[in-house]
Amino acid sequence: YQGLAGRSTDEVLQLCAAHGQQMKLQRSSLVTQLHGAIKRLKQDLKSLHSFALELSKDFQRQNKTCLYQVLVAVQGIQLQNEAMQMFQMKAFDLEQSLQEVTERYEKEKQKRKALHNSLIELRGNIRVHCRIRPLLPFDDAAGHLLSQDRQRNVSEKAAYAADDETVLVKCSRPGHASVNKTFQFDRVYNDLESQDAVFADVAPLLTSLLDGYNVCIMAYGQTGSGKTYTMLGPQLEENLAFSIEEESELGIIPRATQEVFRLISEKPPGSYWVEVSVVEVYNNEIFDLLAKDSYGKVFGIKRDVVTTREGKSDVPLLTHETVENASEFLHLVNKGLQLRVTHPTLVHAHSSRSHLVVTLTITTVVFGDNFGTLWEDEQTSQRLSKEASCTFPQKMRDNKSTSSSGASSPVQLEATEKMKQVKTRLQLVDLAGSECVGMSGVTGAALRETSFINRSLSALADVLGAIAEQRAHVPYRNSKLTHLLQDSVGGDAKLLVMLCISPGQKYLTESMQSLGFGTRARQVQRGQVKKKNFPVPSKGK
Ligand code: ADP
Ligand code: MG
Repeated sequence: YQGLAGRSTDEVLQLCAAHGQQMKLQRSSLVTQLHGAIKRLKQDLKSLHSFALELSKDFQRQNKTCLYQVLVAVQGIQLQNEAMQMFQMKAFDLEQSLQEVTERYEKEKQKRKALHNSLIELRGNIRVHCRIRPLLPFDDAAGHLLSQDRQRNVSEKAAYAADDETVLVKCSRPGHASVNKTFQFDRVYNDLESQDAVFADVAPLLTSLLDGYNVCIMAYGQTGSGKTYTMLGPQLEENLAFSIEEESELGIIPRATQEVFRLISEKPPGSYWVEVSVVEVYNNEIFDLLAKDSYGKVFGIKRDVVTTREGKSDVPLLTHETVENASEFLHLVNKGLQLRVTHPTLVHAHSSRSHLVVTLTITTVVFGDNFGTLWEDEQTSQRLSKEASCTFPQKMRDNKSTSSSGASSPVQLEATEKMKQVKTRLQLVDLAGSECVGMSGVTGAALRETSFINRSLSALADVLGAIAEQRAHVPYRNSKLTHLLQDSVGGDAKLLVMLCISPGQKYLTESMQSLGFGTRARQVQRGQVKKKNFPVPSKGK
């Protein structure tokens, strides 16, 4: 306002108006600008709003689809779960019914076995078991060890245990007719089955033995098929004895003896005693492997087999040693076996070139006057009264009876009691190799041996054939072997033939021969297996 001083009122008025004008102009342009900005903002806001709306709609849509998908998935899972549960239930049901069927099958199988056993007893059939031994290094012709080429060796097998009653022989070789054949037996052991498993089926026969049945167990098969292993156990390298130390490897003969003594230990003391004889049939001659001369030295002494008036076979003068426990028996048998090697006529003979027969005679003492009336029927009583003898076992005759648990001497009782004895017999036979060695090129002693073995084994087959055909004449006397085994093979013994089979292809012919022998043996029907009914000695004795 100092500048205005001195100016005229008009000028001031003009200046003020101009200034007002200017201000007005400035303000209006600012307002326009502001307006524009607000408009743009509004537009932005609008588009943002519509974008947000779109976004939310989109989100809702997507949400819905997701939810739907989740729902579908959950439903699917539920369905699957249900189906799974159904399957599980079905599987459970199936498992249960399978178990039931298996149990029923096992029961039926047991029943069938029991029935089969009674049928065998009624018909007097011969039981035939078959053991297939494992492939062994010496089976390989080229001399390869098994482990080096297992696959090839496995494919070389020709005999298998299809199940525990069936042998399958399957083989196709270039240049040979292919073979695919099955054989049924009472029991078939595969190559993994132990000595334990084999003996488990033999043990019931030993109960029968003490119940009054004669029992015979005979191993048949070609050389190297496992007869001696099955009957005795693995043989020691240096001699023909078998190892007594390897308990789990022991064969039927030692185990059977242990079982017999165990069974006897459950009976009243002094009522049973056991005698042993060991013979060898070589070149159709019987050698007494327990015989001693007057100096106590052992020799291969020959014996003969005769038929008694009762039609039984007997070996007069045969050495019977009384044994009181299993280890005494084992040492005795081992001593006898070693004799086979030093035997003068047998210097070069392989063990499988002779038949070995170990016999356990079990004498049961029956006390009392009413002996005859205690038997089940008149005939049996008469038969047994006749059979029963009052001879004492050798040890007692020799008056050097040793009193011990199982077989304490009945001598003391003799004065006061009327005593009768009944004998049952367990015959254990390791036959010579059944292979039919080609005769060409074989001379001298070997030819003699082979022809004797072939003759004795075909005599055995002939005897079985004659019994099977129920011929009036059974040619027991065609060979010393069949004559010796007459009562077991044709008589009233429970007879078990243990077929031994080598599984290799190269033994196919021999295996088929053995399986054929076993099949024929199984069909043989003898008279009913007879039991010597023992009366239970009255209490206090
Ligand atoms: P064989 O008496 O029939 O001539 P061996 O019993 O001497 O035959 O058996 C021949 C070989 O095979 C022996 O070395 C024996 O130890 C072995 N062997 C036989 N059977 C079996 C088996 N089941 N398991 C293992 N080795 C066996
Ligand atoms: Mg042998």
